[in-house]
Amino acid sequence: MSTAPVPAEETANSTEELTEPDAVPAGTVREEYENLTDLVRKYRFAYYQEDEPLVSDAEFDELFRRLEEIEALHPELVANDSPTQEVGGEVSAAFAAVEHLQRMYSLEDVFSLEELEAWITKAEGGISKLGDTARLAWLTELKIDGLAVNLLYRDGKLVRAATRGDGTTGEDITHNVLTIKEIPTELTGTGFPAEVEIRGEVFIPSKAFAEFNEALIEAGKAPLANPRNAAAGSIRQKDPAETAKRPLRMFVHGIGAREGLDTLSQSQTYAVLEQWGLPVSPYFEVLGGLPEILAFIKRYGEQRHNLMHEIDGIVVKVDDLATQRALGYTTRVPRWAVAYKYPPEEVHTKLLDIAVNVGRTGRVTPFGIMTPVKVAGSTVEMATLHNQDVVKAKGVKIGDIVVLRKAGDVIPEIVGPVLALRDQQKPPVRDFVMPTECPACGTPLAPAKEGDVDIRCPNARSCPAQLRERVFHLAGRGGFDIEALGWEAAIALTQPAEPEVAPLVSEAALFDLTPEDLADVRIRREKRSKGVATGEFELVPYFYSKGTAKTPSKPTATTNKLFDELTKAKTQPLWRVLVALSIRHVGPRASRALATAFGTMDGIRNASEEDLAHVDGVGPTIAAALKEWFAEDWHVEIIDRWAAAGVRMEDERDHSMPRTLEGLTLVVTGSLPNFSRDEAKEAILLRGGKAAGSVSKNTSYVVAGESAGTKLDKAEQLGIPVLDEDGFRELLANGPAPAAEAAPTPTSTEPEEAAE
Ligand code: NAD
Repeated sequence: MSTAPVPAEETANSTEELTEPDAVPAGTVREEYENLTDLVRKYRFAYYQEDEPLVSDAEFDELFRRLEEIEALHPELVANDSPTQEVGGEVSAAFAAVEHLQRMYSLEDVFSLEELEAWITKAEGGISKLGDTARLAWLTELKIDGLAVNLLYRDGKLVRAATRGDGTTGEDITHNVLTIKEIPTELTGTGFPAEVEIRGEVFIPSKAFAEFNEALIEAGKAPLANPRNAAAGSIRQKDPAETAKRPLRMFVHGIGAREGLDTLSQSQTYAVLEQWGLPVSPYFEVLGGLPEILAFIKRYGEQRHNLMHEIDGIVVKVDDLATQRALGYTTRVPRWAVAYKYPPEEVHTKLLDIAVNVGRTGRVTPFGIMTPVKVAGSTVEMATLHNQDVVKAKGVKIGDIVVLRKAGDVIPEIVGPVLALRDQQKPPVRDFVMPTECPACGTPLAPAKEGDVDIRCPNARSCPAQLRERVFHLAGRGGFDIEALGWEAAIALTQPAEPEVAPLVSEAALFDLTPEDLADVRIRREKRSKGVATGEFELVPYFYSKGTAKTPSKPTATTNKLFDELTKAKTQPLWRVLVALSIRHVGPRASRALATAFGTMDGIRNASEEDLAHVDGVGPTIAAALKEWFAEDWHVEIIDRWAAAGVRMEDERDHSMPRTLEGLTLVVTGSLPNFSRDEAKEAILLRGGKAAGSVSKNTSYVVAGESAGTKLDKAEQLGIPVLDEDGFRELLANGPAPAAEAAPTPTSTEPEEAAE
């Protein structure tokens, strides 16, 4: 039901939006209505009184909408105490009840841009009937996800602060509000009425919330679920000293009793509030109409996660106060404002199980399997739980209802359990127990070294799960880029349902595969009916067509593509081959650096750890990981077999280039007039030299351009020859002059410094 603003008189008992009652028998509707009413009351109580919601806001909003829908269709059911006629919230006996001088209201919500458009269009129509459209402007601001608070100032002094409560009566939280430093106990400036009520939102800024939670975790305490509930819980503490420990802030966004204050618009009122020393949000704008409002919504939707506080939507208010007065209020909301809610980022769902995944380096990661749920625009049914310590810290058990959060494009996160619902779960919830053996190969799991949180499957060579992950990874965009080798194909190659022996038991054999090797591969796949999963599984051939009596089974088009792509992959540049090897810590960046510095796989394999560590973008951790990796025979076998199958293990070089820098290590620093850093390195490499990232006693020359920093100082300290661009060109063309070759060997043994 919409309350879009038309003058108050006109909407009294308006039925213009009501559609015909539907065909549901009244008894059934009444039952649904009463059930819904009870649920909404119960959820409101948990949310407002206990600061511990039982359902997500989105779920609550949906129930509330359904209630409004039924009321619109069956007005005879609407009781005076219907939740739709009330501002949610009650007054807890733990606080003194205080009457607001002027009522506090909720806001009408819309959940899509289409609904917002309809609301604004209707509103503008209604306002134009008031006669003065020239005054039509929309104050548009962020909907702070916090808790409404009413501040009462008498003669400029803060005398009382209260929660919204049921809108008429709130809870006295004055002592707690006094702990929020930015709320002035005395207004500054002049012109304030003898009595004025200022309304706003108390919240915890996102960064402070994260820090506060980190401190709680460090102290071995459970973290707070989300900033909104944390703010509500903090401001409703019985002991103000406890409230004072919470990083609370407030932004004001409205005014209640105000006799004697003659501002003409909401925006002008904000300016006055600011002069009085009150915290006004910097994020509001006065806009002319729908296009600008939509642009505002889009902009803040994109920036939503970089703002100082959480928002759940945008509030659009008629700026002109006379128009606001003419439009008036329903029993629950003003007719001159609307809240557009962004798609929810936090939902509740059931944690059906916690399984573990074995990653490509053997790391065993627990992840939650949940009843699929829509959040931030996508359906989520799995979320990582990182490791057993995280499962413990979050306090989740299998079977719990959990809060699932997906902030924009960030991967979904299980925030924690809804504890109040734990006892009602059937079957009863149970603890997650980390397996002691690899679920894929049965090898006992262990941390790589003592004290590590992560547990690993040490069977790197033949664990089928690790192999599957490595195969999937090597085909990725940053690796060989084999589109036809996706997740399912990686399973089919390494862990098929049939035959018993997988076609690929080591990635070493990848380029030796033939289509015939794949003829009998079958995987287990869920049957779908009209695109919907049925829960039934069947065995299907993966790489070959099913075949009939007339047409024999043959490789599918994707399988043919796979073999074409495998052929193409053999000529990929060296850095991609390096990425494809799944060497710990060696991603695209380090791989490019290594390929640029050494040019060949053999060069990298035979380089000393020190030489590797000197490469810009490599460093000691990666160097050690590389040495460790090359020390394993079965790793070397991968390279050898790939090479034998025709995979190129060196980057193409211009052989016309003289090898003037053979055996020399150069460091380029600062900016050269005619070479970019990469061009300079490339030039060194092409002539057989090494391009290192930091200066050490092994450096032959430092090429220093403008603004060269610590590397130049270090070179001078170690007595390493320094060249400018001309000297560099000379060196590239002719190699070292005899004198330079005989340059004294530096004696310093200082460790190399970090790259600039
Ligand atoms: P609301 O949160 O949708 O909007 C009204 C409130 O918005 C105002 O009272 C005000 O405090 C606040 N607000 C924030 N920024 C504002 C701004 N710039 N200008 C004006 N007001 C601003 O309505 P509500 O009645 O407070 O609460 C209903 C909402 O609370 C529901 O939509 C639901 O999301 C949530 N809720 C959840 C549960 C649950 O169980 N999860 C239960 C009850 C309510």
